Amino acid sequence: MNEAPIPVTDTSPVAATVTVADGSPRITAVDTYDIRFPTSRELDGSDAMNPDPDYSAAYVILRTDADDGLEGHGFTFTIGRGNDVQVAAIEALRAHIVGRSVTALCADPGWLSSDLTADSQLRWLGPEKGVMHMAIGAVVNAVWDLAAKRADKPLWRFLADAEPEWLADQVDYRYITDALTPAEALALLKRGRDGAAQRAVRLRGTGYPGYTTSPGWLGYSDEKLTRLARQAVADGFTQIKLKVGANLDDDIRRCRVARAAVGADIRIAIDANQRWNVDEAGAWIRALAEFDPYWIEEPTSPDDVLGHAAIREAVAPVKVATGEHVQNRIIFKQLLQAGAIDVLQIDATRVGGVNENLAILLLAAKYGVPVCPHAGGVGLCELVQHLSMFDYVALSGTTENRVIEYVDHLHDHFTDPVRMAHGHYVAPTAPGFSAQMRPESIDTYRYPDGTFWAADRAAQEEVTEA
Ligand SMILES: [Mg+2]
Repeated sequence: MNEAPIPVTDTSPVAATVTVADGSPRITAVDTYDIRFPTSRELDGSDAMNPDPDYSAAYVILRTDADDGLEGHGFTFTIGRGNDVQVAAIEALRAHIVGRSVTALCADPGWLSSDLTADSQLRWLGPEKGVMHMAIGAVVNAVWDLAAKRADKPLWRFLADAEPEWLADQVDYRYITDALTPAEALALLKRGRDGAAQRAVRLRGTGYPGYTTSPGWLGYSDEKLTRLARQAVADGFTQIKLKVGANLDDDIRRCRVARAAVGADIRIAIDANQRWNVDEAGAWIRALAEFDPYWIEEPTSPDDVLGHAAIREAVAPVKVATGEHVQNRIIFKQLLQAGAIDVLQIDATRVGGVNENLAILLLAAKYGVPVCPHAGGVGLCELVQHLSMFDYVALSGTTENRVIEYVDHLHDHFTDPVRMAHGHYVAPTAPGFSAQMRPESIDTYRYPDGTFWAADRAAQEEVTEA
């Protein structure tokens, strides 16, 4: 199964453009936008490795000539500088997409996904990791948005209603068949159909559990941490998360403050954002053990599979979580094979889109490891809720020890923002992937020429001249 040659497309991007003369609607444009929000000014999103993030989206709209007027929206999340590089990577894929049949794309997003990852020249920039792979994820997610809209369903339901055979075919099994074969994936998806209708009803009634990172950004004062932690409990959350890893004395103080604010029954996860070496991680986490941390997230480099396994052994019963920077299904496979993680954190825009996240959800289901998605960023809550809800309804069949991260930033910029009730994500009902940003938000925060950034630059020039 692994012996087939890697498929390659024609090396000419123009020749790679697909044109089929069957009269069906086509993709007519791939429009990109560099959108940046000035979140660093309030220290929202600050952590031990990323002290001043400007939450940003390299955003793409697929336009078609179909009579329904529907568009596919997708994006990948960055934290400011480099968002222009990410946009350029999406633009490098344009010739693969313009001219494709909308019907064919939506009937088989995996076709595009495989085609994009197999571009032999662009593949050199990865393979299947980093800026180019994230760009593929943005485009593939935009196709899923379009497909779900055309089916008039929110993406979670579009996935949950799909035939197991079709879904299993959406996964690229290259490099993972030693852990998950197509037959095993199909069996998991068929098993997931048992009771799916009842779970969908339950999901619509109670939503999907979330946890909040909003109290815990590193740049916040103890007073703000206390206030937001208490608010989180009042809002119905049963887990919060604190950023750690910059200074141990500060971490001890902040964990004490947070534990005092929420009491003994609320889970407190901690997140080091890759700050430590392997041996350092063990010592640091043990120093925080008295505050009963539930998981330690990203203790070290996301590429260090054996390092995570060593840390897990050193800090048990504290759980080890990672995934927001794990670049593809292959590293996730190894983390699971090595018994390196207790909690798997998918991200909707880090890997190659819905198709690769399907592979990762299937791997997690096979190994029985709970998936608790990363969603700290712009639009990540909007996207990833669909994947968890599908997983609950039609794959793992459970929400036990599963929570989706929630941060209360920037939702108003989306046409179908997430809604929370009693610490739970309310199941989206609007068709699509909830990826669509409001046109006025794009006009305001487009970098560098949107109205916010133009006014900001003018104000800074005035200060400089004065
Ligand atoms: Mg994190």
